[in-house]
Amino acid sequence: MLNVVIFGAPGSGKGTQSIHLKDKYGLIHISTGDLLRAEMAAKTDLGKMAENYIVEGQLVPDEVVIGMLEDTIKKNPEAKGFIFDGFPRTLAQGEALDEILKKFGQEISIVISLEVDDEELIDRLLKRGELMGRSDDNRETIESRLKVYYNQTAPLKEFYAEQGKLVEISGKGSIEEIFASIAEAVDKVVAEKKE
Ligand code: AMP
Repeated sequence: MLNVVIFGAPGSGKGTQSIHLKDKYGLIHISTGDLLRAEMAAKTDLGKMAENYIVEGQLVPDEVVIGMLEDTIKKNPEAKGFIFDGFPRTLAQGEALDEILKKFGQEISIVISLEVDDEELIDRLLKRGELMGRSDDNRETIESRLKVYYNQTAPLKEFYAEQGKLVEISGKGSIEEIFASIAEAVDKVVAEKKE
């Protein structure tokens, strides 16, 4: 199996690049943000609870997202691999993901971290807010999300660097250019697996 974590700050292009990855490698794309927004739209209890955190730009509690992620993996026993987009976001989630994959005799193959500076991130998110009307793409929430990213999520880079799995890629440039760099890194891992 090929299991890719696509990592980066909000607005770094994780969702867009995940769609390309999914198409090229035939993987199942799991975005915890999309799953939570679907729960919100369906007005489930989980969705109503999550909304309080999302509108504040805070993280939904670990046990909730970890449970959701494990259920999604279980629902896809035939998968050739997964793209984890927006998960893990805390060290506890990173450790849980390793444990869950271990239960299936699997592991993370590669972690792609998309690097984009704050000014550009804020710019992109404000534009997305205008286009898509996402309730969390406003200046105040964007600022909290960036703070949360640097405080709670970015430390995971060290966790994956220690495992030798982290590849940092510039998230600036055209979607195609960025994807070419990502595919090069993924192909290298695929080739190593075959050896
Ligand atoms: P995203 O679409 O990935 O930017 O996620 C939107 C919002 O959903 C985040 O700001 C969080 O409030 C929540 N969320 C998504 N994924 C996670 C996660 N792995 N852990 C906690 N909260 C999450």
